Amino acid sequence: MIYLDNAATTKMYEEAADAMLPFYTKCYSNPSEIYNFASESRKAVNDSRKCIANIINAEPSEIYFTSGGTESDNWAIFGALNLMREKGRHIITTCIEHHAVLNTCRYYERVGYEVTYVKPDENGIIDPHDIEAAIRPDTVLISVMMANNEIGTIQPVKDIGKIAAERKILFHTDAVQTFGHMPIDVKDMNIDMLSASAHKCHGPKGVGFLYIKNGVKIPAFHFGGKQERMLRAGTENVAGIVGFGTAASIINRRMKYNTEYITNLRRYFINRVLGEIKYVRLNGDMKNRLCGNVSFCFAYLDGEAIQIQLDLYDICCATGSACNAGIKAVSHVLEAIQVPEEYIHGSVRFTISEFNTVREIDYTVDKLKDIVSRLRGMSLEYKISIDKR
Ligand code: PLP
Repeated sequence: MIYLDNAATTKMYEEAADAMLPFYTKCYSNPSEIYNFASESRKAVNDSRKCIANIINAEPSEIYFTSGGTESDNWAIFGALNLMREKGRHIITTCIEHHAVLNTCRYYERVGYEVTYVKPDENGIIDPHDIEAAIRPDTVLISVMMANNEIGTIQPVKDIGKIAAERKILFHTDAVQTFGHMPIDVKDMNIDMLSASAHKCHGPKGVGFLYIKNGVKIPAFHFGGKQERMLRAGTENVAGIVGFGTAASIINRRMKYNTEYITNLRRYFINRVLGEIKYVRLNGDMKNRLCGNVSFCFAYLDGEAIQIQLDLYDICCATGSACNAGIKAVSHVLEAIQVPEEYIHGSVRFTISEFNTVREIDYTVDKLKDIVSRLRGMSLEYKISIDKR
């Protein structure tokens, strides 16, 4: 099996899995209890908190563990709007956010908030001037993702953070695709809230964190016990948090090496596909791009058909377009960057990790070439386009 869907989730580091196990079977205490047995699980949670805080240049007291990226995004938006409810009801975000942000914003629109969805350029990059231009006296939150999950574009978060800080507007960033994959400094980037998730960086599923800058007093999202300094009730996912801390520390140590290794694989992959397959385009910016992201659109083809064919060779990848009940659904991100009509349905995303090899990329490209030419042989749209030339 060749796994090239690392933006969806990643293989857990063995070390992270090993570190978790004792917290299910031996040190299984509830960290809130006061007896001695509980001190080990409490210490383990706090050690993970320290490790994660250190990676993004935050204080441990600014890290709140959650169930993952979706919860962190929801909480950041809910919290900011509630904290600032006297000031206004306007949110600025982008039209290429993950649905964890987009659908939360859509909910708030339904209950009376106004949302400006800033568009990216055709490379998928948000212009900070467009964010600035969208600011109104009643703007209470700016939420812009650090990197896009579909096309991998890295946003100018530092510039946007500066604008938000100067205008005293809360700034949230969804760093689910970047935590552990590129350096993050919440102070230097003027970030008030940041979401991250363990399973995108070789940690376990179902655990993440929200960084909340000290002094930003957003309210609790969950109500119940006093965990996470009374802001996130519920018994801690101790083993998950330990796995997250372990994975975070390993990936952070390897970041420089991984970036170089994965970028080389990506370059090789892109060059082969663009050089050997016709009518294909690379989506997103070439420079400001997550090192593992390879997003193509194949003209006159359906991405889902390519994905299914690759699956027959045990190659896992993703598509931004799906055909459900005969209706072709197109990715909001590809629409936002104005991918031409003949290309937009043929999107396939490959996301590389440190576990992939050149041999795997070669095998994938070889199969992809066969599949594309076979499917094009059957594609009426393709034949018509060739006739017209
Ligand atoms: N934000 C982004 C950019 C993502 O890519 C994802 C997951 O794909 C999420 C949020 C949601 O994260 P989780 O799966 O941890 O809820």
